[in-house]
Amino acid sequence: MSGKSSDLLYLTLWFCTTNFVKQNQATDSKKNICSTLARDENFTFRAAYWAELHGLLYRALLPNTVLWGHLFLSFSVSDDRTSVRVMAKVIQTDEITEIVGDLLIGADGCLSAIRKYFLPDLKLRYSGYCAWRGVMDFSGNETSDIVMGLRNAYPELGKCIYFDLAPGTHAVLYELRKNRINWMWYVNNPEPELKGNAVTMKVSSDMIEKMHKEAGKIWVPELARLMKETEEPFVNVIYDRNPLERLFWDNVVIIGDAAHPTTPHGLRSTNMSILDAAVLGKCLEKWGSGNVNSALEEFQSIRLPVVSKQVLHSRKMGRIKQGLALPDRKTFDPKSASPEECEELQQKKMPFFTNAPVPVIST
Ligand SMILES: Cc1cc2nc3c(=O)[nH]c(=O)nc-3n(C[C@H](O)[C@H](O)[C@H](O)COP(=O)(O)OP(=O)(O)OC[C@H]3O[C@@H](n4cnc5c(N)ncnc54)[C@H](O)[C@@H]3O)c2cc1C
Repeated sequence: MSGKSSDLLYLTLWFCTTNFVKQNQATDSKKNICSTLARDENFTFRAAYWAELHGLLYRALLPNTVLWGHLFLSFSVSDDRTSVRVMAKVIQTDEITEIVGDLLIGADGCLSAIRKYFLPDLKLRYSGYCAWRGVMDFSGNETSDIVMGLRNAYPELGKCIYFDLAPGTHAVLYELRKNRINWMWYVNNPEPELKGNAVTMKVSSDMIEKMHKEAGKIWVPELARLMKETEEPFVNVIYDRNPLERLFWDNVVIIGDAAHPTTPHGLRSTNMSILDAAVLGKCLEKWGSGNVNSALEEFQSIRLPVVSKQVLHSRKMGRIKQGLALPDRKTFDPKSASPEECEELQQKKMPFFTNAPVPVIST
């Protein structure tokens, strides 16, 4: 844990008891209309705050399981392959500390240093587009022009996740609890140069101004205004990676974005990470601490086929929605798409959407 618990308001998706609606719609900013392309009335997902998700996980752990403010530096596997020694820096004191365990689980995100150790030449694949992102807090302004305008243009806000599609681009919009609206806008462009170890890009005021101008040309006025009035919008550069051939080496395993960096269009990257952790936990429980290798074998055999297909499907969905070329179909145009093409936008087309396998545990 780096100790930087992000409060960013992301779309994190879980199964939930109340139904959400998901709507893909074509935007015509000249006529100021949106027409439905695909709609799912039983979209059993919902958005959550990172802080709440982290809190839930943290409270489920035994005290002192989490070492805050420790920066992972390096690791080594013992000669007999039964233990792993990790070196970490305590950020507050700069002290270097050593931690020895049976197993190292690399859950260190899409730029994983642990994955890099085994696959030093592996590069992420730039998707061809970046996402402008922002969250507007309208606490105390619930009846302001902008909020009422949005509620008028997007009448199901609060129980619907809207995907607005225009030729060669798409945007996502939904309301979060506590009076906030989260939006993303995917823009095709050459790969930008990133500084440091991050996939988030610093943006200049010129870039923001240009984004506002473009939004006015592409989106309905209410969405363009939301983008304009959101403080501190930022850019995520979107990457993924062809599926790996393996997820563990001796007693080091990678999970989550470290194991399968993915584009966000499957709306399930967090679910994938959570399921990895759940399946790994079950496998370790099943095989016991004396048989870590068998547990990792089973974990890999269950999760690798699932996450591999999901990463590639998400990539395909991103390319469809961004109007990018695909080998097996013509470029998607929301203005002229056939019903069959629109059906492809449905989230439930994701492989293993409702039936991701779990380990069999005999009782
Ligand atoms: C534009 C965009 C939209 C998205 N939308 C969705 C969505 O709708 N639904 C969804 O489910 N997901 C979405 N995601 C993806 C989601 O955020 C990730 O899939 C998820 O966070 C992966 O979880 P993880 O735990 O594997 O990695 P991360 O959340 O990246 O966590 C890795 C952790 O490791 C820590 N770390 C890294 N290196 C070190 C080190 N050396 N020492 C100590 N700590 C370290 C980091 O600080 C971080 O806390 C989206 C992502 C993007 C970019």
